[in-house]
Amino acid sequence: MTGEAQEDCLFCKIVAGHIPATVVRETDTTVAFRDINPQAPTHVLVIPKAHYPDAASLATGAPDLAADVLRETKAVADEDKLDSYRVVFNTGGGAGQTVFHAHAHVLGGRGLEWPPG
Ligand code: C5P
Repeated sequence: MTGEAQEDCLFCKIVAGHIPATVVRETDTTVAFRDINPQAPTHVLVIPKAHYPDAASLATGAPDLAADVLRETKAVADEDKLDSYRVVFNTGGGAGQTVFHAHAHVLGGRGLEWPPG
């Protein structure tokens, strides 16, 4: 919850450049990269460079940074020319979160059903 890089965190390692990723955008505070297991033609993850374990801790611990992440989801959608897309923050294991460094999924490029299941 402190924002400090965690040694055992996969996405902190991507931020540090220790694990490769297909980066599509980078700002002072965020990185956006293509998901390794894409669920749609566009499937990009937007992460804060600082470590927060999930969207809830990011929203309460660093609301300006949460806004940076949200702003970048729009930039990703613009770059991939998406007029419709979905932004998802899986929050907690029961919701499907598997990597405990906050991240927004940006999904688009195909029809998306609702509810997501
Ligand atoms: O919301 P959740 O925590 O399940 O999302 C984690 C995402 O991180 C998955 O979609 C997975 O494919 C992606 N991932 C990745 N690169 C890695 C490891 C996981 O894009 N090296």
